[in-house]
Amino acid sequence: MTNNNQPTNFIRQIIEEDLASGKHSSIRTRFPPEPNGYLHIGHAKSIVLNFGVAEDYNGECNLRFDDTNPHKEDEEYVEAIKEDVRWLGYSWAGQYFASDYFEQLYNFAVELIENGKAYVCDLHADQVREYRGSLTEPGKDSPYRERSMEENLDLFRRMRAGEFEDGTRTLRAKIDMASPNMNMRDPAIYRIRRGVVHHQTGDAWSIYPMYDFTHPISDALEGITHSLCTLEFEDHRPLYDWYLDNITIPCHPRQIEFARLNLEYTIMSKRKLTQLVAEGHVQGWDDPRMPTIAGLRRRGYTPAAIRDFCNRIGVTKSDGTVEMGVLEASIREDLDRIAPRRMAVLDPLRVVITNYPEEQEEILVGPNHPKDESMGSRELKFSRELWIDRADFREEANKKYKRLVTGGEVRLRNAYTIICEKVVKDVSGEIKELHCSYDPDTLGKNPEGRKVRGVIHWVSALAAVPAEVCMYDRLFTVAVPDGVKDKPFQHFLNPESLSIRQAMLEPALADAEPGARFQFEREGYFCRDTKAAALGELVFNRVVTLRDSWGQG
Ligand code: ATP
Ligand code: MG
Repeated sequence: MTNNNQPTNFIRQIIEEDLASGKHSSIRTRFPPEPNGYLHIGHAKSIVLNFGVAEDYNGECNLRFDDTNPHKEDEEYVEAIKEDVRWLGYSWAGQYFASDYFEQLYNFAVELIENGKAYVCDLHADQVREYRGSLTEPGKDSPYRERSMEENLDLFRRMRAGEFEDGTRTLRAKIDMASPNMNMRDPAIYRIRRGVVHHQTGDAWSIYPMYDFTHPISDALEGITHSLCTLEFEDHRPLYDWYLDNITIPCHPRQIEFARLNLEYTIMSKRKLTQLVAEGHVQGWDDPRMPTIAGLRRRGYTPAAIRDFCNRIGVTKSDGTVEMGVLEASIREDLDRIAPRRMAVLDPLRVVITNYPEEQEEILVGPNHPKDESMGSRELKFSRELWIDRADFREEANKKYKRLVTGGEVRLRNAYTIICEKVVKDVSGEIKELHCSYDPDTLGKNPEGRKVRGVIHWVSALAAVPAEVCMYDRLFTVAVPDGVKDKPFQHFLNPESLSIRQAMLEPALADAEPGARFQFEREGYFCRDTKAAALGELVFNRVVTLRDSWGQG
């Protein structure tokens, strides 16, 4: 049953032991997002883990929306989350909402009351806090702790009926106010939220169950065998187990915690990502600079690269921050293999080939991939006027500069060699165009007796298609923008995270499919923007540079 494609980890080992010992004959996991925002790359780690182990051990994985916070949640997010999970390549065995279980959860709460394990407490939030004690001091029992079962049942029923205002009462578990684990000091099970409309249950409920109560029961009702969650829930595990031990339910899932993914130069909390969107720092949840799945998709990431990244970083119990270079290496490797090569001039400088006939245009051939002949080739148009990149020319430079200089010779990729004869400037002294000569005898072969400096890319000015090219840089200027003392994360936004180039592309790019990815030779990997394409515009997003440049920031 072990899978050879996946690196193993402590969770896979536990699952393998449970299958080998016969504790479980099959496994079931779940991915439980709260629909209060779009999924980010951190969620991808959880998705790849939960769906991945289910797949590898012939089990099942459910998609469950943890929707117990009605005022922050929305149907828009439910749909976006489903799209993202599907796009990552997974399908769920069952789709559930925690709110599907509201009636059953209510009945389990009644069972706790009937067994003297829960009570209605009239303390207000600040009093509850005061009674809770601290890490060094035990808490105090609530004065309402010894209410009779009848009174508790009556009050709880009336809480449900909407008789009491928000914040006036809670239902609490009766555990231990002196427990060293604060989560066990009579935690709230239900709170009153009147008059809010829940995206699934409408106005049916005036009370909502707490996450810590809802989660283990939802897991158990679905027959989850291994409930995988992030490390901050480690201290909640005794409570997870306490609820399941104190109600009548046949299944007791095992909660296992693993470290969250943190990624350098970005942030990873839905609440903060919501702020970036709401405050207009980015253009939306799918802005290609966002660490959201929707943003990465629009940027040009492939699902395979994201899954590969998640497998590379592995699953452990120790928190850390992963370098952006690791994520970028995954997409770079994938695109190096699959992306057709094209030429695009991002900062165009006109070149006139003075010895090339004025009305002539010839068709040359460029392979789509240097290492994969099966990808075929495309036509390239060559003419008297071309575009090259401004960065590929210097009036003077030493031998290390492998591009065009005055009097020097370079090869135009897939075409001829040229020599720069003359630099034409405008009144301000800026270079307007270059006059060059070409050697007609150098197509596909080197000139005799001379060495060219290097190879540069180009586009025929007659055939070129203008397009906008969005160059993305890190969204923040510091590796960990989150949690710096006295400075909100917005303070570290990189004002140069997006720069737009008016580029000239080879004509084959004009009818690129929306979302299609290419290597622009010598520049990087680019993806045709889907949103702009829907408006009929030709815009490309830089997915990633050709080489890792993060270390040099
Ligand atoms: P956020 O603070 O971004 O909203 P969350 O944990 O509250 O994160 P949920 O929607 O509750 O978000 O998470 C769904 C699942 O994804 C949970 O099991 C959670 O542990 C997991 N998850 C969320 N963020 C990360 C992360 N950065 N790394 C790994 N798993 C994550
Ligand atoms: Mg959450």
